[in-house]
Amino acid sequence: MKEQSWLECIRGCGTRYAIDEVVYTCEKCGGLLDVVHDMRILKQHSGQDWKQLFDVRAGKRSDIYASGVWAKKEWVCPQISNDEIVSFQEGNSPLIPVPRLGQQIGLLDLWMKLCGNSHTGSFKDLGMTVLVSLVKHMIAHGSPIKAIACASTGDTSAALSAYAAAAGIPAVILLPRDKVSPEQLIQPLSNGAKVLSLDTDFDGCMRIVQELTKDPTIYLANSMNSLRMEGQKTVGIEIVQQFDWHVPDWIILPAGNLGNVSALGKGLLMMQELGLIDRLPRIACGQAQNANPFYLAFKNDFTHYQPVAAQKTMASAIQIGAPVSYERAVKIMHIFNGVVEQVSEQEIADINARADHWGLYCCPQTAVALGAAQKLVERGVIHSDERVVVISTANGLKFSQFKLSYHTEKLPNINATFKNKPVELNAKISEVMKAIE
Ligand SMILES: *Cc1c(COP(=O)(O)O)cnc(C)c1O
Ligand SMILES: [Zn+2]
Repeated sequence: MKEQSWLECIRGCGTRYAIDEVVYTCEKCGGLLDVVHDMRILKQHSGQDWKQLFDVRAGKRSDIYASGVWAKKEWVCPQISNDEIVSFQEGNSPLIPVPRLGQQIGLLDLWMKLCGNSHTGSFKDLGMTVLVSLVKHMIAHGSPIKAIACASTGDTSAALSAYAAAAGIPAVILLPRDKVSPEQLIQPLSNGAKVLSLDTDFDGCMRIVQELTKDPTIYLANSMNSLRMEGQKTVGIEIVQQFDWHVPDWIILPAGNLGNVSALGKGLLMMQELGLIDRLPRIACGQAQNANPFYLAFKNDFTHYQPVAAQKTMASAIQIGAPVSYERAVKIMHIFNGVVEQVSEQEIADINARADHWGLYCCPQTAVALGAAQKLVERGVIHSDERVVVISTANGLKFSQFKLSYHTEKLPNINATFKNKPVELNAKISEVMKAIE
């Protein structure tokens, strides 16, 4: 492939690899790798040119530009040919105002970016289209890859299974047993992936998949693989574009393995460098108190970092104690004057129910971000008149069991303050009238 982008060590040791090489970390110093683009090529167009191009493509319905990710193809993966792209028209997700919820938590200009409105129901689709497309390209060009593997808290595996199935490439999924929702378990099974349910947690699955993918015929799809980051970074670009290229004051998201926050920052920085925007938003991450290594590190200004053993949390997709993209994320937090807030299980359950009460259907991870927003407003870090965007990372339909348990008071140690139980009646008009009075 022509050298319009390549992989480069994030620790600045200078090591580079081709974009389609099977390598996940720097062989010289062990650092993670990032995709780096030749900015001289991209700077041949002005910021205004890019905005115009992206706005034209935002109206497309059928070609690859109908995907929000591939609408930014030159910034994501310029070298791949269009017929190698595996896409479910991911991206272009709604950005909606949520004034009633905003009022409740003290924000006058609150928005949600609904990344769960996507083929497999989470933002993981944004990255997976890039990774699987490139693997398809590698195989077509003689690479010995026979399968793609990942460890997952449920959404990465759903995305990988679907995209790999569409590309005709076998997928191997390592899941922590009983720690993903039933919907997340059935997604890869339905798509024909080999699903291995391991008697461990996510961090345990991650260690094994890293061993497994030392075999060059099995390709690693976890977010330490920087190809996914290229697709995920379009979320921030899309948000700004949806505001007619105006930058919000805050973007808030739930954080687990720290790939998404790193990607968000990367996309926004690219916009700044290429002259599409002249200021940056601040970034806030929410973590579950039961799995909070990033919060603890933030508390001492990122001078000291210690992985933790993640405890059980309802926000199961972020039940991660040893985030792989820690180094990347810290860089982003420094640049974006970022903050991290933690949210308890009771707070997750309550804010989830309250958000749903205003017509949303949030996943528990999104509730963590909303809970963080609320606490940051209460602490005066976020001001009530600032424009705040909360990234909703998955579709609440993947977590209906959790919601049902809440409303029927079956969640252990949780007060279902905002419960709404079904009323059981005899099939008689008089009883129905009385019940709705
Ligand atoms: C993966 C995931 C996250 C966390 O993203 P990271 O990149 O691991 O920090 C949050 N919410 C949902 C629904 C997810 O699937
Ligand atoms: Zn290096």
